[in-house]
Amino acid sequence: MTSSASSVVSARNLCLTYDTNDGPVHALSNVDLDVRKGDFVSFIGPSGCGKTTFLRVIADLERKTSGDITVNGMTPDEARKARAYGYVFQAAALYPWRTIEKNIALPLEIMGYDKTERAKRIAQTLELVNLAGFEKKFPWQLSGGMQQRASIARALAFDADLLLMDEPFGALDEIVRDHLNEQLLKLWKRTNKTICFVTHSIPEAVYLSTKIVVMSPRPGRVTDIIESTLPTERPLGIRETPEFLEIAHRVREGLRAGHSYEE
Ligand code: ADP
Ligand code: MG
Repeated sequence: MTSSASSVVSARNLCLTYDTNDGPVHALSNVDLDVRKGDFVSFIGPSGCGKTTFLRVIADLERKTSGDITVNGMTPDEARKARAYGYVFQAAALYPWRTIEKNIALPLEIMGYDKTERAKRIAQTLELVNLAGFEKKFPWQLSGGMQQRASIARALAFDADLLLMDEPFGALDEIVRDHLNEQLLKLWKRTNKTICFVTHSIPEAVYLSTKIVVMSPRPGRVTDIIESTLPTERPLGIRETPEFLEIAHRVREGLRAGHSYEE
């Protein structure tokens, strides 16, 4: 079996250069990566190393400059049209004038699902993120963590196999984040999704992932890819085990190696 046949995302020599008034910005430089079905892949690296850009290329929100990328074996353009992914943004990005159920319904309306089907999917996804009973609330009536769960429900509602998440818990305090990390792992196991997850946090990346992609800036490139050896069953206490700390150490080394001390 070739790697790209089983790959949900496959990148080869992927480059993306932004043309700016200050000259070219090499956001992605020769990125090689395979995300397999059912993987939980975290992207970690300092601000500006191209994490968001990579997700946006997968989602067809940015075009590559050169190299190859496929999503479910298709071009990003075809994958977008086939609704191959759900996208969770850095901020919850919910419409404040719509209730939680109406926020989740919006992409479903655009995709032409009828009212019965919409109601069914809204109920299912709110259940998945433990927000059943909150459908009539407005976003501002929910805590930050609950809002972020609602935006995950929205991304799950049309049941794409691939979930792209850009620092979804970055703005939340550590206790809420721990709780959401646990919930996200359970959700991932229950739904068999493939997840690409951007984070700044080493413990979060190690706790969640089957694979950790360490990136460095200027130009944005991959400095290490770590296959996790942790068991799939992960109580929060696993973060104190030697195996966990060993992987965290390797991530930290990768980040250090990619860091330029000239700045
Ligand atoms: P990250 O998400 O890792 O913080 P980004 O992917 O957002 O990094 O950005 C990578 C680099 O590309 C940064 O130097 C950023 O300033 C630059 N960049 C991102 N988007 C644009 C854009 N639309 N136009 C020009 N430069 C951009
Ligand atoms: Mg970003």
